[in-house]
Amino acid sequence: MQKKIAVIRGDGIGPEIVNEALKVLDVIAKKYGHTFTYDDVDMGGNAIDKWGEPLPQAMLDKCVNSDSVLLGAVGGPKWNSVPGDKRPEKGLLKLRAGMGVYSNNRPAKIWPQLADASPLKPEIVEKGIDFIIVRELIGGVYFGKHETNVVNGEKVATDIMNYSESEIERIGRIGFETAQKRNHKLCSVEKSNVLDTSRLWNATMHRLAKEYPDVELTDMLVDNCAMQIVKNPAQFDVIVTENMFGDILSDEASMITGSIGMIPSSSLGKTSCGLYEPIHGSAPDIAGQDIANPIGTILSAAMMLRYSFDMAKEADDIENAVSKVLDKGYRCGDIMPAHNADKCTKVGCSKMGELIRQELI
Ligand code: NAD
Repeated sequence: MQKKIAVIRGDGIGPEIVNEALKVLDVIAKKYGHTFTYDDVDMGGNAIDKWGEPLPQAMLDKCVNSDSVLLGAVGGPKWNSVPGDKRPEKGLLKLRAGMGVYSNNRPAKIWPQLADASPLKPEIVEKGIDFIIVRELIGGVYFGKHETNVVNGEKVATDIMNYSESEIERIGRIGFETAQKRNHKLCSVEKSNVLDTSRLWNATMHRLAKEYPDVELTDMLVDNCAMQIVKNPAQFDVIVTENMFGDILSDEASMITGSIGMIPSSSLGKTSCGLYEPIHGSAPDIAGQDIANPIGTILSAAMMLRYSFDMAKEADDIENAVSKVLDKGYRCGDIMPAHNADKCTKVGCSKMGELIRQELI
């Protein structure tokens, strides 16, 4: 099969981790007789430096016209003083909106080998952590009007959050369908005791529930959900929530599985052209040192093969290779266990990529 992949290396650790993922894809291509071609796309701080904006239209066009997009991460302190509408992260929002990828799937699953790396007590981890957060990606407050005005002599900032019934319905359906493929339990997370958007969210989810009688729908307020994720994560199968709540809860969920560096994500809309990226940011504090964990990005490439290219066997192969490397005790710094560290071997970003590739050959 021939596939054209738009590649956004981005800023900070982005180029390092994407490099390892591409080398893994090259091994898969050779092994299974596929041809993957890579089309480099400038986005984020590097695009601001080069083009004066975080995602020029020509770059977005490259993404939309590809078979899928692989992204590292964007942003960093160098661009913190850039005006809000020109910040690196604006490129990311423009990309998601331009590709129409409204559904972001973020698995929170603990690898058994990394149980020691979870900050939770062993008795909580032993009950199992395996759930998916389905996050709405192109609506809500991140896409509302943002402004700062001077009122009565002081600055007042405003961010508008709105959701239409149809926006809620299309992500709600992804939530129900995801639960149907898993353990048939869907938890809808909102803040309906305060927000109108959440009350509409809640009413829409319950209307949809009648069409999915095989799925058990529960509601949870987002503040309670933040607590339940650390208290009893085993209760969750699929969580569906709006953009900002999903952003925050998925970072929390990633930490209980060991490290943010391990978690991949897929973002899909109406077509098979998806956006695949690790859930972490550009980690400027460790950039350029060859110590970032590339596994979240490598697993994002595996998700691309599975969901956009229908290459389940190839995706399984990558996930098994990661598992074997963890079995052998190799760890990047972020997943080194607090106890029994002497049983593990600490490796850097490029070495971790090389070890995973060796398991694939
Ligand atoms: P971050 O996710 O970049 O880093 C948080 C912490 O996790 C840091 O200590 C970092 O070293 C560590 N970390 C992250 N990824 C890691 C990896 N693969 N291996 C090992 N450790 C890892 O979040 P932040 O520091 O809040 O943000 C840094 C920049 O990234 C900001 O400019 C932010 O806006 C941007 N950001 C971008 C994205 C994206 O591109 N999708 C997402 C989140 C944040």
